[in-house]
This record gives sequence, C-alpha cells and structure tokens, in this order.
Amino acid sequence: MKELKFETKSGWLLKDREAIEGFSKGYLEFISKCKTERQTVRFAEEVLAREGFVSIEDYDGTIPGKVYMKFREKALVAMKINSKLTDGMNLVVSHIDSPRIDLKPHPLIEDEGIALAKTHYYGGIKKYHWFNIPLSIIGVIVKEDGTKVDVNIGEEEGDPVFVISDLLPHLDRKDEKVSEKFQAEKMNLIVGSIPLKDEEKEAVKLNILKILNEKYGIKEEDLVSADLELVPAIPPREVGLDRSFIGAYGQDDRICAYTSLIALIESNSSKNMGIILFDKEEIGSDGNTGAKSRFYMMFFRKLLKKQGFNDVECALDEALEKTNVISADVSAAINPSFKDVHDIPNAAKAGHGIVLTKYTGARGKAGASEARAELVARVRAILNKRKVLWQVGLLGKVDVGGGGTVAKFLAEKGAEVLDMGPGLLGMHSPYEIVSKVDLYEAYEAYKALLEEL
Ligand code: MN
Ligand code: MN
Repeated sequence: MKELKFETKSGWLLKDREAIEGFSKGYLEFISKCKTERQTVRFAEEVLAREGFVSIEDYDGTIPGKVYMKFREKALVAMKINSKLTDGMNLVVSHIDSPRIDLKPHPLIEDEGIALAKTHYYGGIKKYHWFNIPLSIIGVIVKEDGTKVDVNIGEEEGDPVFVISDLLPHLDRKDEKVSEKFQAEKMNLIVGSIPLKDEEKEAVKLNILKILNEKYGIKEEDLVSADLELVPAIPPREVGLDRSFIGAYGQDDRICAYTSLIALIESNSSKNMGIILFDKEEIGSDGNTGAKSRFYMMFFRKLLKKQGFNDVECALDEALEKTNVISADVSAAINPSFKDVHDIPNAAKAGHGIVLTKYTGARGKAGASEARAELVARVRAILNKRKVLWQVGLLGKVDVGGGGTVAKFLAEKGAEVLDMGPGLLGMHSPYEIVSKVDLYEAYEAYKALLEEL
C-alpha cells in the first residue's frame, strides 16, 4: 500500500550523477560571469545568435522560425515558432535582476581622509550580509554625447575590490535591533585614501576622480547617468565535502534564466515555445523592462503581424488564451537550522527536485497567482512520464512567509500560469546555495514542459 503515499527521494539516489555534474559545469561558468541584467542579456543573445535565432526585425514570418527581441539591454524574449501563434505558446519566464547594492547618482564623498561612495540597496536584503565582503562594480556610464563606458572592476584576478566596512565588535557592544544597527545611509563603500598633491579640500576624492578620468575619460557629473551595481566579488564554488551544492551570488533568479535558455535551445516539438528574461522582479516588476511592462506583448504583436494576421489584437487574445506559462523562479529550500518557519510537508527539500508552487501570495493568499488544478495535473503528468524529479513547496508557514513572482502579471493577460523553480538556501544573500540535483531537474523540467505542455 506504500505506493498510495506521495513521497519524494533524494535525486542523488535516482539520477545519473555524470549528467548532473556535466550540466553544473556549464552553469558555474555562466553564473560566474553573469552578475547583472546587462551581462545576462548579452550572454543570452550570444547563445541565441550562435543557435541561429534572428532578431525580430530580421524575421520574415516563416514557420518554423527562431526569433528573439532584446529590450533596452535589460530584458529579452526568445521563441521557437513552429506554428501560428494563435495555436498558443509554452513559455518559461524568469527574472535576471538580483538583490544588490546600487551606487547613488551623486555617490562620491570624502570624510576623515577616506573617499566613500554612497549606495542604495536594491531588492529585499538583510543589510548586514553586505558588510565586510569584497564587492565588484559592474555596469555602464553614459556620457553626455551618448558614448557608453563599460565598467567592470573587481571580477578579474588582480583587480581591486570594494568594501562596505562595519564597526568592530569592541566598539559595538550596544544590543540594538538589526533594523537599528544596520542603516542604509551607513552603507558607504570604501573607494580610496590617497590625497592628490597640492590640493587642500577633498584631495582624496579628487584623486579618485582623477583615476576615473584617466581610466574612463569621465568627470563627476557623468556618474549621474550611470547604472552601476555592486555585486559580491566572490567566485562561485562547489559547496560541501561531497560537492553536492553550488554556492554563488545571484542564483535568484539567473539559475532559472540559464536553465530555461538551455532548455529552449535543446527543445524540439511541434509547439510554439519561448522564454522571457525579465528585469525589476525584485522591486515589484515595475518599469519598462519588468513583467508589468509591454515589451513582450509588443514582441507577440510584431510576430502576429509577420504571420499575416490583420486583427492583431484579436489574434493576440486567442494566442494568450491557449498559452501556458511556467513562472520560473526559485523557492526556499528547508534549512535544517531554521526549519520552524516552514510547514514541512509543504516545504522544499534540497536535492529532491524542482519545486512546484501551486500558489504564491501572503496570509489569506493575498496577491496570489494560483495555478488551476487542470494545469497542475498536466504538468505533473508530463514530469512523471519524463521521470523529472519534482516536489511541492510554499514560501513558509501561512502567517509567517509569503511572496510573489512574475506569475500574476502573465496570469492577468489570460494565460495559464504555474510557478516552478529550484529551492535555494540563503536566498537573497550574497552567496546563495543550490543543490546540483535541483539545478539539473529545473533544466529537465523546463525542457519537458516547453516541448509537451
Ligand atoms: Mn526570484
Ligand atoms: Mn528574489
């Protein structure tokens, strides 16, 4: 009678270790060089171009076709078109922004002989995680004439790094709440301490400006028109004596961006299938590159026009009605040291496969995107048939946790949507941890669902 019970097992007991390790290698390479939205879009575009995908502008509407559209360097949508779009699509959508620290638009100050850069955190972080760790600055500075300067300091061997330094314990004995102890306005980055000769006021800051001018040809005002992100300068590594985990920054949610991208490249079926890489999920999906924006709808409209539809709006509704979306985002795996925040039967275990989250939201399902039973049944059937390991997971106990993904913004458009992704330990920290099994099963699941949903 044991088979009546719904139980999961460690993937290490069920899966081919060689395939898992092989996939992990490619992922490690990706996650070590894609730490920002722009870097990830660039990576995806390179892969897609190599695989014969063409930009939407160059697509003539032939079926089958492989098309993509990059949007403002920070978001991307790509599709394999195998029939009329009005037949529906299978989409796996993820986000490529991660919690981090940004530079303020007028960042440079000098105080007590040290030049500092003022910062502004992005997304839901525990501020104290970001003190006393090496940080890289990655991004772009755009000059008045439109020239774009690529900035990447801290990632190459031999580069300097940057640190937000905390107070030593000897002088920090006050027993304050974390919210009082760690304040955003104290998250100032150390950038230098050598004064420029023959200067009296702010000589250290001036020296920093001189270095920036020599390196990038910029002046202080140019920092106003910049997207500069501080990310951990910590290389991804295998974690554990048995090397079963991968530790890296930004796995939420670039792990789903990578697994869905590779799944799309390798998928073959008669269905229309695609991926979307969104920006701005961590701050609510607002803005022209987030999931609330129109860019991917613009892409679908362009496709429909190229396929010869005259009433594009009507055709778009028809296409969306028949569309299935996997909202590919990470879940929380149980950390045995903090397991009281979870309802264990409804929480994800590291190494037990991709996590199926029937609904998101908080408390009484407020703000939830909930998948219909019909869709969940079809997904379950496909995964079981293909022997993909999956489990269920919710974001913590009902009155404790909760959270949202991009799911609801696609659901709003009329598509069927289900949340699925690997579970992480230490999500939103500078060094998130994933089981290699769950990484691999995410890829396998996305491939199966792109092909068969
Ligand atoms: Mn996420
Ligand atoms: Mn997140």
